[in-house]
Amino acid sequence: MKKALVTGISGQDGAYLAKLLLEKGYLVCGTSRDAQMSSFRNLDRIGIRKDVQLASIALNDFRSVLQVLFRVQPDEIYNLAGQSSVSLSFEQPVETQDSIYLGTLNLLEAIRFTGKPIKLYNASSSECFGDLGGRPATEETAFRPRSPYAVAKSAAFWQVSNYREAYHIFACSGILFNHESPLRPERFVTQKIVRSAYRIAKGNQEKLQLGNIEVQRDWGWAPEYVEAMYRMLQRDSPEDFVIATGQTRKLQDFVSAAFEAVGLDWRDHTRIERTLFRPTEIMIGRGDASKAAAKLGWEPKYKMVDVVRMMVEAVPETDQ
Ligand code: NAP
Repeated sequence: MKKALVTGISGQDGAYLAKLLLEKGYLVCGTSRDAQMSSFRNLDRIGIRKDVQLASIALNDFRSVLQVLFRVQPDEIYNLAGQSSVSLSFEQPVETQDSIYLGTLNLLEAIRFTGKPIKLYNASSSECFGDLGGRPATEETAFRPRSPYAVAKSAAFWQVSNYREAYHIFACSGILFNHESPLRPERFVTQKIVRSAYRIAKGNQEKLQLGNIEVQRDWGWAPEYVEAMYRMLQRDSPEDFVIATGQTRKLQDFVSAAFEAVGLDWRDHTRIERTLFRPTEIMIGRGDASKAAAKLGWEPKYKMVDVVRMMVEAVPETDQ
């Protein structure tokens, strides 16, 4: 039986990935910064909490990382933990850098230290590309990060690439564009929009305040994206992959679709709030996942409108 270690298992992707790995027959151990205190609500929501082992890890502490590796003896590590909000990274740049860059470096060093053929998946991000003026990003596109989050993800990406070349570690990065689900926390704009639309329709909220709704993004469905992570580690040789739907839509379209799903016109219920604009913004995010289609056989089924519909449908069971 293969063993997988999933860091950040309490998050959106961690929960869906753990479910997928369990279905594939893996023994899954997941980590949290404090496994005693974390609620692991997402694992409860998708009904797998009792099926996974849980451990605490401080990814910025090499000793802690090494201890977990020795204890769990994983065949595959999926590193999904870290400060994952672009907005928050402007307020907490050091925490963001430490949790993403140092965390990834510690995992790479710990793998090297054990000398075992442990495979590593690194959760990289389309934010690394910065603003490409609408050009689609591929694995060959240069990084021009525009936030502390993106800088940290870019540094971690190159560290993974370097360890692969220098020490022949099976490590690869998935450069994922935005992916959503009912497990997305409300701090992220997509879930904020979906839940606000629902509450406004129920008469429990007055207005939805938003930042720049002209930004364009490529939104996919998280449960499909974790399948791509898994497939990257099943190959004979490690490579990096862009994962995206290939369809870019304005945030305004997302807002419109969410309000339409609850029978309202978004223009009557939203307000643009200048303080919610980011110091630096990516105006258009567009991804080209043709390499993933060719080499992983991965193609997304769901696009933005499907994602909005599925998130809205799930609100009654998750809006507590
Ligand atoms: P998420 O829901 O925020 O989960 C990340 C987990 O990391 C959290 O549950 C948390 O677990 C842990 N974490 C949070 N802050 C941390 C910190 N400062 N130090 C150490 N650990 C911390 O993220 P996700 O959406 O599942 O995404 C998974 C990974 O993919 C992240 O690295 C994210 O940056 C990356 N990514 C996501 C997207 C997307 O659209 N979702 C796109 C590209 C890349 P505990 O509280 O239990 O410790």
